[in-house]
Amino acid sequence: MIQKIAILGGTFNPIHNGHLHLIKRFSEKIGFDRVILIPTKVPTHKGEEHLADAVHRVRMCRLAAKEFGYEVSDVEVQRETPSYTVLTLEALKHKFPNDMLYFITGEDMFLSLLTWNDPDRIFQLATICSAPRSIEGMGKMEQYAQILKTHGANTILANIDFLPISSTLVRTVWKNGEDISDLVPAAVVNYMKQYDLYKE
Ligand code: NAP
Repeated sequence: MIQKIAILGGTFNPIHNGHLHLIKRFSEKIGFDRVILIPTKVPTHKGEEHLADAVHRVRMCRLAAKEFGYEVSDVEVQRETPSYTVLTLEALKHKFPNDMLYFITGEDMFLSLLTWNDPDRIFQLATICSAPRSIEGMGKMEQYAQILKTHGANTILANIDFLPISSTLVRTVWKNGEDISDLVPAAVVNYMKQYDLYKE
């Protein structure tokens, strides 16, 4: 049987309900057989402030994923080379040669895809599933999808009800000592407490 395998790559600093909601909505739409979260080692595309150690980010992803039966791969964390998505997708295609890969992104990453390493190869390896994080986002994404099509991309855009949550918001609220239980799964909150993360 050909499996539909979803991949959500992310800095996950930390993982939050917005990420999980994005996966859930695409799972409902496409019916994935497997969902794999792949935390980056060091993001190649942004100078992330207050980046928790990759070990912590992977463990928080595992705690969040457990409830939904998602998998977490540390392939990028283990790799010596930068966390380029094309390398990760090549490795997954090698592991699952007959299956279909779906790479999920939010609005900002979708709109930057042509600046990534070897985007045309990414489009050969995976269907891009993307959703807006703003009211005006869908229009911009639809236009960009037309350009991506000329690069061979197969895109699925979904105008889902996005949750206004970001990792920056989670860290800020947490640092202020306020309640983040609506933003992050309980197991992740407990982990952040246990290891005193994001308090500086
Ligand atoms: P992130 O901040 O942890 O976010 C992961 C994804 O979730 C992003 O696409 C983000 O959307 C989306 N998201 C977060 N909160 C959301 C919400 N409330 N509602 C809907 N979507 C939400 O990770 P990231 O730093 O953006 O990295 C994403 C992936 O892109 C990583 O795997 C990274 O390695 C990859 N990447 C690769 C290259 C390359 O290969 N050269 C370059 C850039 C990125 P937004 O896109 O809107 O932030």
